[in-house]
Amino acid sequence: TIGADLARAVERFGDREALVDVPSGRRWTYAEFGRAVDQVARGLLAKGVAKGDRVGIWAVNCPEWMMVQYATARIGAVMVNINPAYRVHELGHVLRQSGVSVLVASVEHKTSDYRRMVEQVRASVPALRDVVYIADPTWAGLIAFGERVTDERLADREARLSCDDPVNIQYTSGTTGFAKGATLSHRNILNNGYFVGELLGYTEDDRVVVPVPLYHCFGMVMGNLAATSHGACVILPAPSFDPTATLHAVERERGTSLYGVPTMFIAELNLPDFATYDLSSLRTGIMAGSPCPEEIMKRVVAEMHMAEVAICYGMTETSPVATQTRRDDDLARRTGTVGRVLPHIEVKVVDQDTGKTVERGEPGELCTRGYSVMLGYWQEPGLTAEAVDAEGWMHTGDLATMGEDGYVRIVGRIKDMIIRGGENVYPREIEEFLHAHPKIADVQVIGVPDEKYGEEIMACVILRDPAGHLSRDELARYCRGSLAHYKVPRYLRIMESFPMTVSGKVRKVELREQATAGVA
Ligand code: ATP
Ligand code: MG
Repeated sequence: TIGADLARAVERFGDREALVDVPSGRRWTYAEFGRAVDQVARGLLAKGVAKGDRVGIWAVNCPEWMMVQYATARIGAVMVNINPAYRVHELGHVLRQSGVSVLVASVEHKTSDYRRMVEQVRASVPALRDVVYIADPTWAGLIAFGERVTDERLADREARLSCDDPVNIQYTSGTTGFAKGATLSHRNILNNGYFVGELLGYTEDDRVVVPVPLYHCFGMVMGNLAATSHGACVILPAPSFDPTATLHAVERERGTSLYGVPTMFIAELNLPDFATYDLSSLRTGIMAGSPCPEEIMKRVVAEMHMAEVAICYGMTETSPVATQTRRDDDLARRTGTVGRVLPHIEVKVVDQDTGKTVERGEPGELCTRGYSVMLGYWQEPGLTAEAVDAEGWMHTGDLATMGEDGYVRIVGRIKDMIIRGGENVYPREIEEFLHAHPKIADVQVIGVPDEKYGEEIMACVILRDPAGHLSRDELARYCRGSLAHYKVPRYLRIMESFPMTVSGKVRKVELREQATAGVA
């Protein structure tokens, strides 16, 4: 179990650093972190949290988030990660759907008044008995309350846990629609975190800078669990993503590993004072979550000292990572593929219509099977049966190819594929190509309705120079000769930003709505 694994880390790495919160300057060794987790675990037991009860966490990145993660695991509770960008309506929905009885929440952050929103929904969530706010007297109350819990009571609870118990309900990013709650076990996420860290070569000397949200699997599994299962240290640069704070944290805390979705690395590389940060301590890191443009990957390797940076591919439902590049992969593999399958997991690429495995190099739906496949969507057996087949294969909804060498390339999401005049167009390929354009900082390609071709192609572009100019003709000239004519974007939209999920992904559904307003 996760609790047992933390106890082992405390024993082996007791005096090494486990956690640093850069904004507050607070830091914990493994021994101190173990004690902090112990206190929270006792507090939750004292509040009557039974095995299997759901404990919600609705907070921006902070050390208490991580303490609650390990404390709930220790007492066999099921932690429900709630997106800090949610508002009252979504909060109420998640709390009711997952049956949260105790909620731990931030008080406020930027324009979000979490306390006020919790009070607004409280009456409509009958199961919610107790709310604890971080950095608030109610938190101190939780810790004080736990002092009455005896060692025997805690040990007795731990003795009744199994690694196949649910430990977590994680909601998917909601990129393609409403977010689904994936129920995950200790076995699912602890193993996945361990293997991700193993392939990155983590040891107790590593210092992992985590600017991605903890509420998402990227932060809590590939960050926290990967680090603690190898005795490495987690460094939290800021409550929510901030490119300056991130580079500052790497420099000040001598980070060896840095995480981000592609848009975060883009924001960091484009900081006007980027060159002034000392990033020489970096060795590795992970770029994942959405397609990783080769251009960006090359700059990360060259300009951020991350020679061993990995691309991971996965999804919340598979704990999350299914494939990952390896430390000794050459640049072509590191930039052009999402690596090969993790140990003890299977992947295959199938024809969507027949379900048969396709030839190497042919595109099809990526499926994955193994210890990492979720227990199911929380109280949604119908949805679970649609996603995981009778043989245990998770159907990812992603189109991929697998080379002779086992390396996987993601072609795109089935839902994002554009069909223009009968030709399948993968936005990914055009985005990849346009990323190399000197004027373009970021680009998304979408299909917009068209009477003649069914769909036409639109490029939504963020310019490097916000005051700069790029015309449709200029773009078309750039594409001609390099892209087949039917892939050349018919429309160009210059935008200042894209609608994003909190996990840092572009919400294409919303982008399509925004961008097509005025086209048709
Ligand atoms: P929802 O399922 O709610 O629509 P989501 O699928 O974005 O949202 P996540 O589970 O956070 O939610 O993300 C998994 C998806 O992210 C994968 O199915 C895949 O489409 C995409 N993805 C993850 N890693 C990569 C990668 N390295 N390259 C390309 N796409 C990736
Ligand atoms: Mg998904």
